[in-house]
Amino acid sequence: MTHIAFPTPDPAILSRRGEIVAGLAALLPAECVISSEDERRAYETDALTAYRRLPLAVVLPRSTQEVSAVLAYLCREGVKVVPRGAGTSLSGGAIPLEDAVVVGVSKLNRVLEVDYPNRVARVEAGVTNLGVTDAIMGDGFFYAPDPSSQLACSIAGNIGMNSGGAHCLKHGVTTNHVLGVKMVLIDGTVVDIGGAHLDAPGLDLLGVIVGHEGQLGVVTEATVRILRATEGARPVLFGFDTSEEAGACVADVIGNGIIPVAMEFMDKLAIEITEAFAHAGYPLDVGAMLIVEVEGSEREIDAQLQRIGDIAKRHNVRTTRQSQSAMEAALIWKGRKSAFGATGRVADYICMDGTAPLGQLAHVLKRTGEIVAERGLRVANVFHAGDGNMHPLIMYNVNDPAEQAKAEDAGNEILKLCVEVGGCLTGEHGVGIEKRDLMLFQFTQTDLDQQMRVRAVFDPKWLLNPAKVFPLDGRGGGLSAS
Ligand SMILES: Cc1cc2nc3c(=O)[nH]c(=O)nc-3n(C[C@H](O)[C@H](O)[C@H](O)COP(=O)(O)OP(=O)(O)OC[C@H]3O[C@@H](n4cnc5c(N)ncnc54)[C@H](O)[C@@H]3O)c2cc1C
Repeated sequence: MTHIAFPTPDPAILSRRGEIVAGLAALLPAECVISSEDERRAYETDALTAYRRLPLAVVLPRSTQEVSAVLAYLCREGVKVVPRGAGTSLSGGAIPLEDAVVVGVSKLNRVLEVDYPNRVARVEAGVTNLGVTDAIMGDGFFYAPDPSSQLACSIAGNIGMNSGGAHCLKHGVTTNHVLGVKMVLIDGTVVDIGGAHLDAPGLDLLGVIVGHEGQLGVVTEATVRILRATEGARPVLFGFDTSEEAGACVADVIGNGIIPVAMEFMDKLAIEITEAFAHAGYPLDVGAMLIVEVEGSEREIDAQLQRIGDIAKRHNVRTTRQSQSAMEAALIWKGRKSAFGATGRVADYICMDGTAPLGQLAHVLKRTGEIVAERGLRVANVFHAGDGNMHPLIMYNVNDPAEQAKAEDAGNEILKLCVEVGGCLTGEHGVGIEKRDLMLFQFTQTDLDQQMRVRAVFDPKWLLNPAKVFPLDGRGGGLSAS
């Protein structure tokens, strides 16, 4: 696959691989340094699997101190670093470079402290997203951001990408739930940013750190808000004849001041593919479906669902199915959360992540179908509709370079459309390498220069996760901003 360019690896660094691996081995136990080709292969890509680069080496430190020692060494030697959580990035954010060392945080996987009176938890950065909720659910609490990859993805990656999820419509995304981080700068300095409470003293740098895509430091710990589980919640399936009707219904519900906990969209193809895998009881005779979840007391739930049902009728809702039990509710969500995986059983796909204003959803859905069909490909849409965060899954054959180019071309057209109608390139998956070359479509060069200046304050030598986020033909991709 050739569409997205990678910079030429530095031959001087490649020729020093043995020496660099030996330097790392002097800092970490043998089981924390991965240097054989076979084992490095496990890290050569993330969830943007069409692109692969074998890293120079991989290290898996066990503590902040070890991360600090590794970064100080690599910085001194002028070696690039790719921070990695669980490697589930869909935008290629964690894809290595051949002249870079991958610093993974998977061994930093402990929940360090839960403070119920203050409703916070302090966790190591490699803890999985679901691992946080698992640690506290027995006491009636949960961690709200819930990417569909939550079984695997790490808090570090969630912070890297400012991840969202199905239930973020009401509760907010990662940035709304991270109060503080411990982060190692590229020269090995350990800094604490934010704190254990809202409104930490000093400059509010957390907003810069959350969503930094591994470009400002390596996060080793986070203090996150935890929420008390609600009294009850109920997902409901609304089936429509057309995607346009379902999209318009979403805009109407939110426009009427109703904020469900979740409002997810699936089109016909997404329903069929997911139902065949998950057997979640989704209606197969509709053109599109919304999963709407509301929470509160039984009475509150009934009242909200009545209002949402009335709005859905105005958009010709064809079928309505309320979950009748906790097991049924869990099955509905299991289906939605396995939709990407189910699609992967049917075809290779790239998952777009643009956003659109809710009033434009119906239009963008229609154009998305046309853009993909014009190239002879298929698309399944499954996304966080309440947030306007669209995820067209464009299907193609990864072994056919021409088809892959068409899929990527269609993806770019769709993302440009999102920007044109007032949305943006990424809702939650980040820029990575995937959208890097579209950044000038959303920002001016002056905007990007300012962003690169902020980045260069943290990483003046431009060693952290280079060739991502900023277009190579701008002044990004390994050149420090001046
Ligand atoms: C099936 C599937 C479903 C998904 N569903 C969702 C969804 O609903 N919502 C959503 O938002 N995303 C979703 N994603 C995308 C992905 O899971 C998220 O972006 C996730 O947060 C990545 O976490 P990770 O631990 O895998 O990070 P990685 O992929 O390893 O890294 C992600 C980024 O964070 C940086 N990073 C990682 N660790 C550190 C660290 N310690 N310090 C600094 N930077 C670091 C990396 O350099 C990279 O830029 C999905 C992915 C898949 C495969």
